[in-house]
Amino acid sequence: MSEIYHKIIQMAEEMKPDLSKQRRCLHQYPELGWCEMRTSSLIARKLKDFGYDEVLVGKDVCDAASRMGLPPQEELELQYRRAEKQGADPEFLPATRGGFTGVIGILHCGEGPTVALRFDIDALPLTETLEPSHLPNALGFSSRNPGVMHACGHDGHTTIGLGTAKILVSIRDQLHGTLKLIFQPAEEGVRGAKSIVEKGHLDGVDYVLGAHLNGGTDKTAGSIGAGRGTTLATTKMDVTFSGKAAHAGMSPEKGKNAMLAAVTAVLNLHAIPRFGDAATRVNVGKLTAGSGRNMICDHAKLELEVRGNTAEANQYMEDYAHRIVCAAAAMHDCKVKTEFVGSAKCSLNSPELSELVRKVILEKAGIPTLSSPDGLTGSEDYSYFSERVQQQGGQSCYFLNIVHCAGPFHNPEFDFDEVGLVNGVKAFSVMSANLMNA
Ligand SMILES: [Zn+2]
Repeated sequence: MSEIYHKIIQMAEEMKPDLSKQRRCLHQYPELGWCEMRTSSLIARKLKDFGYDEVLVGKDVCDAASRMGLPPQEELELQYRRAEKQGADPEFLPATRGGFTGVIGILHCGEGPTVALRFDIDALPLTETLEPSHLPNALGFSSRNPGVMHACGHDGHTTIGLGTAKILVSIRDQLHGTLKLIFQPAEEGVRGAKSIVEKGHLDGVDYVLGAHLNGGTDKTAGSIGAGRGTTLATTKMDVTFSGKAAHAGMSPEKGKNAMLAAVTAVLNLHAIPRFGDAATRVNVGKLTAGSGRNMICDHAKLELEVRGNTAEANQYMEDYAHRIVCAAAAMHDCKVKTEFVGSAKCSLNSPELSELVRKVILEKAGIPTLSSPDGLTGSEDYSYFSERVQQQGGQSCYFLNIVHCAGPFHNPEFDFDEVGLVNGVKAFSVMSANLMNA
């Protein structure tokens, strides 16, 4: 048993330069949610070459109708063309056309538990800083896709997934059970996980593990944190108000002012009474409206989100928000359409698995571990995975891969210490070996 860990650690140490190279290559070609076509094709290529028994791509990964916040078809087609030009794998690229991104690699190792590992692969709509001291600039691996950046470390997550895949396939004769590596699209905006769960890929999974790079400018050494793993439930909505245009001087009374409906909604959304027993959040992050100074505005759109640390609190916020936008539209005789473009559940780690993660990673991988404190920080659609697995009596742990970061997450200056790559590979590999070699 201890030999298996020894081999994992040795292989992980040896692949350090390859991990950096892989991550930097992915960093140069960031792709937004449902557009990770180049990325998906390259992941599938690697898994196939590693010898995975099954490599699922395209429509076999996500349930088409459950994909949330899908970009328009023209945009998806543009991204497909770009992926073609940017060196996507020709065998696997066609399956991604139309926003069918994500990859699942499966290893069948006989009788034993089914273990799923989740890695998210998408980037953010951000422009990377031009600051010469920013490491990706200094070393020449900054984003080549204007307005898109891996500013949340998912280039690292993808790399960790591939490194883990390589190690686990090489020790497959010592593993018992089924291993599923899930490379999930569209985590940003919590849009992708649901479609993978709906496709049934988490059914029958006994253990699911996920992780996120974490840390700040004050952190120096790498560590792994696993605690209760609480994340906020959230609902993301796009709300469109449709009114009627009219001349603002001649006949304003003939118009129906969509802008007034929208701004009425914004002020009232931020005034939703807070929930007594739980933490809640609401934010309207974007408002676009109108076409010119002397016209009554006939079109306005809000992008908003609500959150709650319990399912009920989030539902309360969602229902209240829905009522407000409908009432605001009625006030100004406009029509309103609400589109649900993303959602996540509350997630909780299984205490037993969390404890095992801390123990095994410390003892077998030699990485310092800590019990990460509860924080009401963000939302994660990994929660769809954990919920499904726990509902079936399985266990889930979402842990933090803590490293020094050059700037805040979701920021043009973001970069992370690549020690997180090798730590991530070690953590996922020793945990899989522990769960499948018992
Ligand atoms: Zn992220």
